[in-house]
Amino acid sequence: MSIKSEAERAAANILEEAWDSDRFPVDPVVIAERMGIFVFEAQLPGNVSGLLRKDPGQEAEIFVDVDDPPVRRRFTTAHELGHFAQRRDQDEFVGYIDRRDGRAQEGTKPEEIFANTFGAHLLMPRSAVKVLVDARNSDVQMARFFGVSLQSMQFHLENLGYRRS
Ligand SMILES: [Zn+2]
Repeated sequence: MSIKSEAERAAANILEEAWDSDRFPVDPVVIAERMGIFVFEAQLPGNVSGLLRKDPGQEAEIFVDVDDPPVRRRFTTAHELGHFAQRRDQDEFVGYIDRRDGRAQEGTKPEEIFANTFGAHLLMPRSAVKVLVDARNSDVQMARFFGVSLQSMQFHLENLGYRRS
């Protein structure tokens, strides 16, 4: 299975496990809490937008930059949950640090591709996107419905094959 289909399946499993899957927008903070992960909003140094860490025997922790706009914080939290989904069986990990300029890396690092794809499918599940597309919602309406940026919405639509890129 490709990284992207693995990530999509992992996101669907987590929605099944920790979210009432017909409620939107999906709240990644609630999902994190149901999975036993603490989410903190804090001022993060430099251009760090989010990070995930876990000490042995402790709960995992996600930090997101409080200065980022809400849609950005939601996506960052969903992205970090994607890193967690790949590591849930590990008692310790040093941590992932995600930077605002990290988009350039996303094509090359498999775990970032996984986390980004996971985040997109967690917030914008394929079946729900299809319903909105079929009902001829605009990109702006869909972005608002899912609580994501217009850019994330359009990027996801492209990935799902709704756009000639
Ligand atoms: Zn990442």
